[in-house]
Amino acid sequence: MALLELQGLTKRYGGIVAVDNVTMSVEPGEVRAVIGPNGAGKTSLFHLITGVVKPTMGEIVFDGQRVTAMPAFSRCQLGMSRTFQITALFPEMSARENTRLAAQARDKQRWRPLGGGAVFAEASRRGDAALERLGLSHVAERQAGLLSHGDQRLLEVAMALAQQPRLLLMDEPTQGLSVEETAQAVEVLGGLFAGGGLTVLLVEHDMEVVFRLASKMTVLHRGSVIADGDPATVKADPVVQDAYLGGYT
Ligand code: ATP
Repeated sequence: MALLELQGLTKRYGGIVAVDNVTMSVEPGEVRAVIGPNGAGKTSLFHLITGVVKPTMGEIVFDGQRVTAMPAFSRCQLGMSRTFQITALFPEMSARENTRLAAQARDKQRWRPLGGGAVFAEASRRGDAALERLGLSHVAERQAGLLSHGDQRLLEVAMALAQQPRLLLMDEPTQGLSVEETAQAVEVLGGLFAGGGLTVLLVEHDMEVVFRLASKMTVLHRGSVIADGDPATVKADPVVQDAYLGGYT
């Protein structure tokens, strides 16, 4: 069974159809990238999945449960964790405090039977484990706001991971990074995904990043899905070449 299923999802803003009858799914263990040119509807689709905006039509099913009308925080409790296009960490706190707080945010309801100390220790342990997976243990005590831009983006991923998500949602993970920082982020994320065990949906416009990281791709064009499949097949699809890639090989 798919972990996430979008069924005929549509979002209209007045006369604009930002997302047009999108049906797609994310299987457990997949790293799926949603790509498309500017204005294709990627961000709108991401907002629909995370619960930031409500669809005009269609359904969103997460692990067999209809979540279409569920608020964003409830989706997080069910196991969807997201990163943001713009960094959303606490700059005054250390990297370690950031991941611990992220872990605690999801624990709020799950660990109520445990005492305060046990909750703290468990959240710290998961926060530290997430830092390690992103290669950030050496900056754990540093103030988050003083980390390099690249490390701040990776810290954001660590914060999402500390919540032990069933589905990790990433909004343009390399947005705003330099060429060197992008290469480093792709290397770290590639290693993370290669380890298996994660199910990921990422929205990304950088084709190099997508082809390095994704095991499946969905291509959007003017709000509609024009291709869906493994990267090599999608890349060779003449419709995708015409609409988007423009000779990218
Ligand atoms: P980009 O890569 O430039 O971020 P995108 O693929 O993420 O583009 P969206 O931002 O989802 O595309 O936009 C899809 C369409 O919906 C665009 O025509 C956009 O102008 C429109 N749109 C998005 N959000 C709104 C809104 N809140 N109100 C009105 N129109 C919107």
